Amino acid sequence: MDISKRTALLGSESAFDVLAEVNKLKREGKEVISFCIGQPDFDTPLHIKESAIKAIRDGKTGYTDSAGVLSVRESVARYLSRTRHIDVKPEHVVIGNGAKGFIAFSVLCTTDYGVGDEVIYPNPGYPIYESQIIANGAVPIPLPLIEKKKFSFDIGELEKRITPKTKMLIINTPQNPTGGILDEDDLGEVAKLAKKHGFWIYADEIYSQIVYDGEFMSVASIPGMYERTIISDGASKSYAMTGWRMGFVANPVLAPHMARWITNLEACGNHMSQYALAEALDGPQDETKKMVATFHERRDIIVKLLNEIKGVSCLTPGGAFYAYPNVTKVVHALGMKDAVELRKLLLANGIAVLADSNFGQRNAEDEDFHLRLSYATSSENIIKGVAKMKKVLEDAQAMAGEKKGAQAAAVPNSTT
Ligand code: PMP
Repeated sequence: MDISKRTALLGSESAFDVLAEVNKLKREGKEVISFCIGQPDFDTPLHIKESAIKAIRDGKTGYTDSAGVLSVRESVARYLSRTRHIDVKPEHVVIGNGAKGFIAFSVLCTTDYGVGDEVIYPNPGYPIYESQIIANGAVPIPLPLIEKKKFSFDIGELEKRITPKTKMLIINTPQNPTGGILDEDDLGEVAKLAKKHGFWIYADEIYSQIVYDGEFMSVASIPGMYERTIISDGASKSYAMTGWRMGFVANPVLAPHMARWITNLEACGNHMSQYALAEALDGPQDETKKMVATFHERRDIIVKLLNEIKGVSCLTPGGAFYAYPNVTKVVHALGMKDAVELRKLLLANGIAVLADSNFGQRNAEDEDFHLRLSYATSSENIIKGVAKMKKVLEDAQAMAGEKKGAQAAAVPNSTT
């Protein structure tokens, strides 16, 4: 029996494949320090767990409105109004099982299948953008992120990619995998182009509470932008709630349409988890503050240590919990083809990281090579893991250097 082309070609998060490799090595008894995982290494705060337990006891176990329980949408609307400085109404909000599904729902709401509608998305970026644009019959248009611009993009490059077929632009700040932040100037330029050309913006703001320097800013805060912006956020990262599957979007125009997609595909967000979401947003915020402070300390440690490795340079990420070091010099020194080979060398030595190609195809032949390290792991693991990484990479570079030296010395002999 055949499977559909759409399914055969469906992308994935290759991070999960690497995770499977890591788990296999661990089962074989090998010690692996993992920098792969994209979720906080903290438990959900107790008061949030208690609210879900209470919800179950109170019988909050049936279906809810597809858009979500009204009182929970009110909590979300208050949270978004407070943090984005705009007037978000509960009827603009749709709650779903994680923010992830809204990527597909947004493509479905703004493009038609197979007619050439285009969606621009950041590259490198969260791999689900590209896979869901393609699976839902739109055309993926990657927008290169540029290390020299602190992993923002060149506005001219964005403008070049806009056509009459452009239906939506996906932006992500703070960004996965680079940890980059789009600043007020970047967002202002994006807003101008969106207004001029009339496309939607999907603002993936799942890491909005994990910023280290200055305040988070949403494109939706710019006057006239909320109407055309699908704000997407959720509980996964900010409240250590990845498994609760609570995400939400807000947009005054698209909310009822998003809700119909939920009716079709999910029926509603998990009922008891919705009460946990409300408690997360309305309740005490100390645990989130503590978690972000811990990520901040770890960020400073990992960036410093990575920059001490020969051939590695790492920008200081402004948010999320990812470091994205440039390893081009190491790749070249070791005569490797790409960052995947380097990732494999590290894994063979007990250090699990992801390669840039886990986050999209290369933007150019001569683009630099990078690895992604999640620092959602203890400081001890970071110190131990990066020290090991330093030894592996520096020993390998020394050996490659010796080999080259020996070959150079051997050449005159061989000719005589
Ligand atoms: N967007 C980005 C950029 C992410 O990194 C993730 C999680 N890795 C998500 C969306 C989805 O989050 P969730 O479905 O857990 O809400």
